[in-house]
Amino acid sequence: MDVEHREVIVVGAGPAGTSCAQRLAEENIDVLILERRAIVGNPAQCGECIPNWGEVVGTFHGIDDHEWLKRSFEFPDRIQLHRLDHMRVFLPSGKSYNFDLDAFAGHRLQFDGYLAEKAVEAGAEIRMSEPVTNVKRRTKTDSLLIVTEKGRYTCDLLIDASGSLAHVARCLHGKDKDYRPADQVPTAYAQVRGNVPETFDVFLGSVAPKGYAWIIPKGPDTANVGLGVRAGALKGSVKEHLQQFCEDLGFEILSIGGGWIPMGGPIKTMVDKNVIAVGDAAGLVMPSNGGGISQAMISGCFAAEAYIDFKRDGTPLTAYQERIASCFGRALKNSLRSKNMGYLMFQNDLITEVLLRILGPIGGIKRAMECDKPLWVL
Ligand SMILES: Cc1cc2nc3c(=O)[nH]c(=O)nc-3n(C[C@H](O)[C@H](O)[C@H](O)COP(=O)(O)OP(=O)(O)OC[C@H]3O[C@@H](n4cnc5c(N)ncnc54)[C@H](O)[C@@H]3O)c2cc1C
Repeated sequence: MDVEHREVIVVGAGPAGTSCAQRLAEENIDVLILERRAIVGNPAQCGECIPNWGEVVGTFHGIDDHEWLKRSFEFPDRIQLHRLDHMRVFLPSGKSYNFDLDAFAGHRLQFDGYLAEKAVEAGAEIRMSEPVTNVKRRTKTDSLLIVTEKGRYTCDLLIDASGSLAHVARCLHGKDKDYRPADQVPTAYAQVRGNVPETFDVFLGSVAPKGYAWIIPKGPDTANVGLGVRAGALKGSVKEHLQQFCEDLGFEILSIGGGWIPMGGPIKTMVDKNVIAVGDAAGLVMPSNGGGISQAMISGCFAAEAYIDFKRDGTPLTAYQERIASCFGRALKNSLRSKNMGYLMFQNDLITEVLLRILGPIGGIKRAMECDKPLWVL
Protein backbone atom coordinates (compact mmCIF):
# COMPACT_ATOMS: atom_id res chain seq x y z
CA MET A 1 0.00 0.00 0.00
CA ASP A 2 1.27 3.50 -0.89
CA VAL A 3 2.26 5.82 1.93
CA GLU A 4 0.91 9.37 1.62
CA HIS A 5 2.91 12.22 3.16
CA ARG A 6 1.11 15.29 4.59
CA GLU A 7 2.70 18.15 6.48
CA VAL A 8 0.27 18.01 9.42
CA ILE A 9 -2.15 15.23 10.29
CA VAL A 10 -4.86 15.82 12.88
CA VAL A 11 -6.57 12.78 14.40
CA GLY A 12 -10.15 13.70 15.27
CA ALA A 13 -12.60 16.33 13.96
CA GLY A 14 -13.91 17.57 17.32
CA PRO A 15 -13.56 21.24 18.34
CA ALA A 16 -9.85 20.80 19.17
CA GLY A 17 -8.96 19.16 15.85
CA THR A 18 -10.94 21.45 13.56
CA SER A 19 -9.83 24.65 15.36
CA CYS A 20 -6.22 23.53 15.02
CA ALA A 21 -6.67 22.63 11.35
CA GLN A 22 -8.40 25.93 10.55
CA ARG A 23 -5.61 27.98 12.17
CA LEU A 24 -2.93 26.00 10.28
CA ALA A 25 -4.72 26.08 6.93
CA GLU A 26 -5.12 29.85 7.18
CA GLU A 27 -1.31 30.01 7.17
CA ASN A 28 -1.29 27.90 3.98
CA ILE A 29 -0.01 24.85 5.85
CA ASP A 30 -1.05 21.51 4.37
CA VAL A 31 -3.33 19.79 6.90
CA LEU A 32 -5.38 16.61 6.79
CA ILE A 33 -7.92 15.60 9.45
CA LEU A 34 -8.63 11.88 9.84
CA GLU A 35 -11.99 11.25 11.53
CA ARG A 36 -13.44 7.87 12.43
CA ARG A 37 -17.07 9.04 12.49
CA ALA A 38 -19.22 9.18 9.37
CA ILE A 39 -20.71 12.54 10.41
CA VAL A 40 -18.83 15.24 12.33
CA GLY A 41 -20.30 15.79 15.80
CA ASN A 42 -22.60 12.77 15.72
CA PRO A 43 -23.26 11.28 18.27
CA ALA A 44 -23.07 14.38 20.50
CA GLN A 45 -21.47 12.79 23.61
CA CYS A 46 -21.98 16.12 25.38
CA GLY A 47 -24.33 18.21 27.53
CA GLU A 48 -24.10 20.80 24.73
CA CYS A 49 -23.59 23.85 26.95
CA ILE A 50 -21.28 26.08 24.94
CA PRO A 51 -19.59 29.01 26.69
CA ASN A 52 -19.58 32.51 25.21
CA TRP A 53 -16.37 34.54 24.93
CA GLY A 54 -17.26 36.50 28.11
CA GLU A 55 -17.33 33.28 30.13
CA VAL A 56 -14.09 32.07 28.51
CA VAL A 57 -12.02 35.20 29.18
CA GLY A 58 -13.46 35.36 32.69
CA THR A 59 -12.12 31.88 33.42
CA PHE A 60 -8.79 31.71 31.59
CA HIS A 61 -5.72 33.89 31.61
CA GLY A 62 -4.07 35.99 28.92
CA ILE A 63 -6.36 35.55 25.91
CA ASP A 64 -8.40 38.77 26.10
CA ASP A 65 -6.44 40.28 23.20
CA HIS A 66 -6.32 37.16 21.02
CA GLU A 67 -8.33 38.36 18.01
CA TRP A 68 -8.42 34.98 16.24
CA LEU A 69 -9.85 33.25 19.30
CA LYS A 70 -12.27 36.07 19.98
CA ARG A 71 -13.62 35.74 16.42
CA SER A 72 -13.82 31.95 16.81
CA PHE A 73 -16.24 32.42 19.71
CA GLU A 74 -18.58 34.60 17.63
CA PHE A 75 -21.06 31.90 16.75
CA PRO A 76 -23.89 32.40 14.25
CA ASP A 77 -27.42 32.65 15.65
CA ARG A 78 -28.47 29.44 13.90
CA ILE A 79 -26.37 27.29 16.27
CA GLN A 80 -27.37 29.14 19.45
CA LEU A 81 -30.56 27.34 20.36
CA HIS A 82 -31.19 28.63 23.86
CA ARG A 83 -29.43 31.27 25.93
CA LEU A 84 -28.11 29.97 29.26
CA ASP A 85 -27.61 32.95 31.54
CA HIS A 86 -28.47 31.28 34.80
CA MET A 87 -27.45 28.10 36.63
CA ARG A 88 -29.19 26.48 39.58
CA VAL A 89 -27.39 23.90 41.72
CA PHE A 90 -29.75 21.65 43.68
CA LEU A 91 -28.84 19.95 46.96
CA PRO A 92 -30.33 16.50 47.81
CA SER A 93 -33.18 18.20 49.75
CA GLY A 94 -34.20 20.28 46.71
CA LYS A 95 -32.77 23.55 48.07
CA SER A 96 -30.88 25.39 45.34
CA TYR A 97 -28.16 28.00 44.91
CA ASN A 98 -28.25 30.17 41.80
CA PHE A 99 -25.68 32.11 39.85
CA ASP A 100 -25.08 33.75 36.47
CA LEU A 101 -23.69 32.09 33.38
CA ASP A 102 -22.74 33.35 29.92
CA ALA A 103 -23.35 30.40 27.60
CA PHE A 104 -25.84 28.84 25.20
CA ALA A 105 -27.21 25.41 24.40
CA GLY A 106 -26.60 24.00 20.94
CA HIS A 107 -26.59 20.73 19.03
CA ARG A 108 -23.05 19.35 18.81
CA LEU A 109 -23.95 18.05 15.36
CA GLN A 110 -24.44 21.64 14.18
CA PHE A 111 -21.70 23.13 16.33
CA ASP A 112 -18.94 20.69 15.37
CA GLY A 113 -20.16 20.79 11.77
CA TYR A 114 -19.87 24.59 11.75
CA LEU A 115 -16.27 24.42 13.07
CA ALA A 116 -15.40 21.72 10.51
CA GLU A 117 -16.83 23.82 7.68
CA LYS A 118 -14.62 26.73 8.72
CA ALA A 119 -11.55 24.46 8.67
CA VAL A 120 -12.45 23.20 5.18
CA GLU A 121 -13.12 26.73 3.92
CA ALA A 122 -9.65 27.69 5.18
CA GLY A 123 -8.14 24.87 3.09
CA ALA A 124 -7.96 21.86 5.42
CA GLU A 125 -9.01 18.44 4.16
CA ILE A 126 -11.17 16.08 6.23
CA ARG A 127 -11.48 12.37 5.52
CA MET A 128 -14.49 10.90 7.29
CA SER A 129 -15.08 7.24 8.27
CA GLU A 130 -11.32 6.77 8.48
CA PRO A 131 -10.35 5.61 11.98
CA VAL A 132 -6.66 5.67 12.86
CA THR A 133 -5.87 2.13 13.96
CA ASN A 134 -2.17 2.45 14.74
CA VAL A 135 0.63 4.98 15.07
CA LYS A 136 4.25 3.89 15.08
CA ARG A 137 7.44 5.85 15.59
CA ARG A 138 10.64 4.73 13.87
CA THR A 139 13.19 5.02 16.67
CA LYS A 140 16.19 5.94 14.49
CA THR A 141 14.59 8.81 12.57
CA ASP A 142 11.72 9.70 14.96
CA SER A 143 9.43 9.67 11.90
CA LEU A 144 5.81 8.61 12.35
CA LEU A 145 3.71 6.09 10.45
CA ILE A 146 -0.04 6.55 10.80
CA VAL A 147 -2.16 3.56 9.85
CA THR A 148 -5.90 3.86 9.20
CA GLU A 149 -8.53 1.44 7.95
CA LYS A 150 -8.06 2.95 4.49
CA GLY A 151 -4.42 3.97 4.13
CA ARG A 152 -0.99 4.73 5.52
CA TYR A 153 0.47 8.18 6.11
CA THR A 154 3.58 9.98 7.25
CA CYS A 155 3.65 13.60 8.45
CA ASP A 156 5.92 16.27 9.93
CA LEU A 157 3.54 17.03 12.80
CA LEU A 158 0.82 14.85 14.32
CA ILE A 159 -1.97 16.36 16.42
CA ASP A 160 -3.74 14.05 18.86
CA ALA A 161 -7.25 15.51 18.92
CA SER A 162 -8.90 12.13 19.38
CA GLY A 163 -10.74 13.04 22.59
CA SER A 164 -10.83 11.54 26.07
CA LEU A 165 -9.35 8.16 25.19
CA ALA A 166 -6.31 9.78 23.49
CA HIS A 167 -5.94 7.23 20.75
CA VAL A 168 -2.57 8.44 19.40
CA ALA A 169 -1.01 8.42 22.88
CA ARG A 170 -2.41 4.94 23.46
CA CYS A 171 -0.78 3.67 20.26
CA LEU A 172 2.58 5.28 21.06
CA HIS A 173 2.74 4.84 24.84
CA GLY A 174 0.18 2.20 25.90
CA LYS A 175 -1.07 2.89 29.43
CA ASP A 176 1.75 5.30 30.38
CA LYS A 177 0.02 7.85 32.65
CA ASP A 178 2.29 10.72 31.58
CA TYR A 179 0.69 10.75 28.14
CA ARG A 180 -2.95 9.84 28.76
CA PRO A 181 -5.75 11.60 30.65
CA ALA A 182 -6.73 10.07 33.98
CA ASP A 183 -9.89 9.60 36.08
CA GLN A 184 -12.22 8.78 33.20
CA VAL A 185 -15.73 9.46 34.46
CA PRO A 186 -18.53 7.44 32.85
CA THR A 187 -21.48 9.53 31.69
CA ALA A 188 -24.87 9.03 30.09
CA TYR A 189 -26.89 11.72 28.38
CA ALA A 190 -30.27 11.87 26.65
CA GLN A 191 -32.16 14.21 24.38
CA VAL A 192 -35.57 14.59 26.04
CA ARG A 193 -38.96 16.19 25.48
CA GLY A 194 -41.14 17.51 28.29
CA ASN A 195 -41.70 20.35 30.69
CA VAL A 196 -38.06 21.45 30.90
CA PRO A 197 -36.71 24.36 32.99
CA GLU A 198 -35.43 27.65 31.51
CA THR A 199 -32.13 27.38 33.39
CA PHE A 200 -29.09 25.07 33.38
CA ASP A 201 -29.92 22.87 36.39
CA VAL A 202 -27.39 20.74 38.25
CA PHE A 203 -28.31 18.09 40.85
CA LEU A 204 -25.93 16.82 43.54
CA GLY A 205 -26.24 13.82 45.86
CA SER A 206 -27.24 10.19 45.39
CA VAL A 207 -28.83 11.03 42.04
CA ALA A 208 -25.22 11.09 40.75
CA PRO A 209 -22.78 9.84 43.41
CA LYS A 210 -19.52 11.86 43.41
CA GLY A 211 -20.64 13.60 40.26
CA TYR A 212 -23.70 15.46 39.11
CA ALA A 213 -26.83 15.22 36.99
CA TRP A 214 -27.78 18.03 34.63
CA ILE A 215 -30.71 19.42 32.67
CA ILE A 216 -29.64 21.78 29.90
CA PRO A 217 -32.66 23.26 28.09
CA LYS A 218 -32.32 23.47 24.31
CA GLY A 219 -35.73 24.97 23.58
CA PRO A 220 -39.19 25.40 25.14
CA ASP A 221 -39.82 21.65 25.50
CA THR A 222 -36.51 19.93 24.75
CA ALA A 223 -33.36 19.45 26.81
CA ASN A 224 -30.14 17.54 27.13
CA VAL A 225 -30.31 15.57 30.39
CA GLY A 226 -27.41 13.57 31.71
CA LEU A 227 -25.29 12.40 34.55
CA GLY A 228 -21.66 11.69 35.25
CA VAL A 229 -20.47 9.75 38.30
CA ARG A 230 -17.10 8.70 39.63
CA ALA A 231 -16.18 5.31 38.14
CA GLY A 232 -17.44 2.59 40.49
CA ALA A 233 -19.52 4.99 42.67
CA LEU A 234 -22.85 3.88 41.24
CA LYS A 235 -24.39 0.43 41.63
CA GLY A 236 -25.84 -0.61 38.27
CA SER A 237 -25.63 1.02 34.89
CA VAL A 238 -25.29 4.78 34.42
CA LYS A 239 -27.75 4.66 31.51
CA GLU A 240 -30.43 2.90 33.57
CA HIS A 241 -29.95 5.42 36.35
CA LEU A 242 -30.44 8.24 33.83
CA GLN A 243 -33.57 6.58 32.43
CA GLN A 244 -35.00 6.50 35.96
CA PHE A 245 -34.05 10.15 36.53
CA CYS A 246 -35.85 11.16 33.31
CA GLU A 247 -38.89 9.05 34.16
CA ASP A 248 -39.12 10.65 37.63
CA LEU A 249 -39.13 14.08 35.97
CA GLY A 250 -41.72 13.02 33.39
CA PHE A 251 -39.37 13.46 30.42
CA GLU A 252 -39.76 11.43 27.23
CA ILE A 253 -36.36 10.16 26.05
CA LEU A 254 -35.81 10.75 22.32
CA SER A 255 -32.29 9.34 22.17
CA ILE A 256 -29.69 8.19 24.68
CA GLY A 257 -25.91 7.81 24.63
CA GLY A 258 -22.80 7.69 26.75
CA GLY A 259 -19.19 8.85 26.85
CA TRP A 260 -16.19 9.47 29.06
CA ILE A 261 -15.01 12.72 30.61
CA PRO A 262 -11.35 12.82 31.67
CA MET A 263 -11.50 14.45 35.12
CA GLY A 264 -7.90 13.88 36.23
CA GLY A 265 -6.51 17.21 35.00
CA PRO A 266 -3.87 17.93 32.36
CA ILE A 267 -1.50 15.20 31.24
CA LYS A 268 2.17 15.55 32.14
CA THR A 269 3.61 15.38 28.62
CA MET A 270 1.58 17.20 25.95
CA VAL A 271 4.42 17.54 23.46
CA ASP A 272 6.06 14.27 22.53
CA LYS A 273 8.68 15.24 19.92
CA ASN A 274 6.52 15.95 16.86
CA VAL A 275 3.21 14.86 18.42
CA ILE A 276 1.04 17.41 20.26
CA ALA A 277 -2.00 16.50 22.37
CA VAL A 278 -4.92 18.96 22.37
CA GLY A 279 -8.38 19.15 23.97
CA ASP A 280 -9.60 16.15 25.92
CA ALA A 281 -6.61 14.09 24.73
CA ALA A 282 -4.45 16.52 26.74
CA GLY A 283 -6.75 16.25 29.79
CA LEU A 284 -7.97 19.85 29.57
CA VAL A 285 -11.54 19.31 30.81
CA MET A 286 -12.51 21.21 33.96
CA PRO A 287 -12.71 18.45 36.60
CA SER A 288 -15.28 20.25 38.76
CA ASN A 289 -17.81 20.97 36.01
CA GLY A 290 -16.94 18.69 33.07
CA GLY A 291 -16.71 21.55 30.55
CA GLY A 292 -14.12 21.11 27.82
CA ILE A 293 -15.31 22.70 24.58
CA SER A 294 -13.60 26.06 25.03
CA GLN A 295 -10.31 24.51 26.17
CA ALA A 296 -10.46 22.19 23.13
CA MET A 297 -10.80 25.15 20.73
CA ILE A 298 -8.15 27.24 22.48
CA SER A 299 -5.62 24.41 22.77
CA GLY A 300 -6.16 23.54 19.10
CA CYS A 301 -5.32 27.13 18.21
CA PHE A 302 -2.27 27.17 20.54
CA ALA A 303 -0.93 23.92 19.01
CA ALA A 304 -1.23 25.41 15.52
CA GLU A 305 0.50 28.60 16.63
CA ALA A 306 3.30 26.58 18.27
CA TYR A 307 3.95 24.90 14.92
CA ILE A 308 3.74 28.22 13.04
CA ASP A 309 6.33 29.72 15.45
CA PHE A 310 8.52 26.62 15.14
CA LYS A 311 8.53 26.95 11.36
CA ARG A 312 9.14 30.70 11.47
CA ASP A 313 12.01 30.91 13.95
CA GLY A 314 12.67 27.48 15.42
CA THR A 315 10.78 28.09 18.71
CA PRO A 316 10.58 24.62 20.34
CA LEU A 317 7.16 22.97 20.16
CA THR A 318 7.28 22.58 23.94
CA ALA A 319 6.34 26.27 24.11
CA TYR A 320 2.80 24.92 23.53
CA GLN A 321 2.68 23.27 26.95
CA GLU A 322 4.00 26.41 28.66
CA ARG A 323 1.25 28.45 27.01
CA ILE A 324 -1.37 25.93 28.08
CA ALA A 325 -0.10 26.11 31.67
CA SER A 326 -0.17 29.90 31.63
CA CYS A 327 -3.68 30.09 30.16
CA PHE A 328 -5.49 27.21 31.87
CA GLY A 329 -3.15 26.28 34.74
CA ARG A 330 -4.75 28.18 37.61
CA ALA A 331 -8.36 27.36 36.66
CA LEU A 332 -7.57 23.68 36.07
CA LYS A 333 -5.70 23.41 39.37
CA ASN A 334 -8.56 25.02 41.32
CA SER A 335 -11.09 22.88 39.51
CA LEU A 336 -9.15 19.69 40.24
CA ARG A 337 -8.93 20.62 43.93
CA SER A 338 -12.69 21.18 44.08
CA LYS A 339 -13.38 17.85 42.42
CA ASN A 340 -11.01 16.00 44.77
CA MET A 341 -12.66 17.66 47.78
CA GLY A 342 -16.03 16.60 46.35
CA TYR A 343 -14.85 12.99 46.07
CA LEU A 344 -13.77 13.10 49.73
CA MET A 345 -16.76 14.95 51.15
CA PHE A 346 -19.79 13.69 49.26
CA GLN A 347 -20.19 10.32 50.99
CA ASN A 348 -23.99 10.28 51.21
CA ASP A 349 -26.97 12.63 50.88
CA LEU A 350 -26.91 13.76 54.52
CA ILE A 351 -23.22 14.70 54.53
CA THR A 352 -23.54 16.29 51.07
CA GLU A 353 -26.53 18.36 52.22
CA VAL A 354 -24.86 19.52 55.46
CA LEU A 355 -21.57 20.47 53.79
CA LEU A 356 -23.23 22.26 50.89
CA ARG A 357 -25.51 24.18 53.25
CA ILE A 358 -22.33 25.50 54.86
CA LEU A 359 -20.47 26.14 51.60
CA GLY A 360 -23.40 27.35 49.46
CA PRO A 361 -24.16 30.66 51.19
CA ILE A 362 -20.46 31.65 51.24
CA GLY A 363 -20.00 30.95 47.53
CA GLY A 364 -18.32 27.53 47.74
CA ILE A 365 -20.52 25.87 45.07
CA LYS A 366 -20.21 28.83 42.71
CA ARG A 367 -16.42 28.79 43.08
CA ALA A 368 -16.26 25.08 42.26
CA MET A 369 -18.46 25.51 39.19
CA GLU A 370 -16.49 28.56 38.02
CA CYS A 371 -13.10 26.94 38.76
CA ASP A 372 -12.07 29.52 41.35
CA LYS A 373 -9.87 28.58 44.27
CA PRO A 374 -11.97 26.49 46.73
CA LEU A 375 -12.76 28.43 49.91
CA TRP A 376 -11.16 25.81 52.11
CA VAL A 377 -7.70 26.38 50.58
CA LEU A 378 -7.82 30.16 50.63
C1 LIG B 1 -21.62 13.39 28.40
C2 LIG B 1 -20.71 14.56 28.25
C3 LIG B 1 -21.20 15.83 28.49
C4 LIG B 1 -20.38 16.94 28.28
N1 LIG B 1 -20.94 18.19 28.40
C5 LIG B 1 -20.19 19.29 28.09
C6 LIG B 1 -20.77 20.57 28.06
O1 LIG B 1 -21.99 20.73 28.24
N2 LIG B 1 -19.98 21.64 27.79
C7 LIG B 1 -18.63 21.50 27.55
O2 LIG B 1 -17.94 22.52 27.32
N3 LIG B 1 -18.06 20.27 27.54
C8 LIG B 1 -18.80 19.17 27.77
N4 LIG B 1 -18.24 17.91 27.72
C9 LIG B 1 -16.83 17.80 27.35
C10 LIG B 1 -16.68 18.07 25.85
O3 LIG B 1 -17.56 17.24 25.15
C11 LIG B 1 -15.24 17.79 25.42
O4 LIG B 1 -14.36 18.45 26.30
C12 LIG B 1 -14.95 18.26 24.00
O5 LIG B 1 -15.78 17.62 23.07
C13 LIG B 1 -13.49 17.97 23.67
O6 LIG B 1 -13.24 18.23 22.32
P1 LIG B 1 -12.10 17.39 21.58
O7 LIG B 1 -12.05 17.95 20.20
O8 LIG B 1 -10.87 17.38 22.39
O9 LIG B 1 -12.62 15.89 21.56
P2 LIG B 1 -13.95 15.28 20.94
O10 LIG B 1 -15.01 16.29 20.82
O11 LIG B 1 -14.22 14.06 21.74
O12 LIG B 1 -13.51 14.88 19.46
C14 LIG B 1 -12.62 13.79 19.25
C15 LIG B 1 -12.84 13.29 17.84
O13 LIG B 1 -11.83 12.32 17.55
C16 LIG B 1 -12.44 11.25 16.86
N5 LIG B 1 -11.61 10.06 17.04
C17 LIG B 1 -11.41 9.36 18.20
N6 LIG B 1 -10.58 8.32 17.97
C18 LIG B 1 -10.26 8.37 16.65
C19 LIG B 1 -9.45 7.55 15.82
N7 LIG B 1 -8.82 6.47 16.29
N8 LIG B 1 -9.33 7.88 14.50
C20 LIG B 1 -9.97 8.98 14.00
N9 LIG B 1 -10.77 9.77 14.74
C21 LIG B 1 -10.91 9.48 16.06
C22 LIG B 1 -13.82 11.14 17.48
O14 LIG B 1 -14.72 10.44 16.64
C23 LIG B 1 -14.19 12.61 17.67
O15 LIG B 1 -14.85 13.13 16.54
C24 LIG B 1 -19.02 16.77 27.91
C25 LIG B 1 -18.52 15.48 27.71
C26 LIG B 1 -19.35 14.38 27.86
C27 LIG B 1 -18.80 13.01 27.59
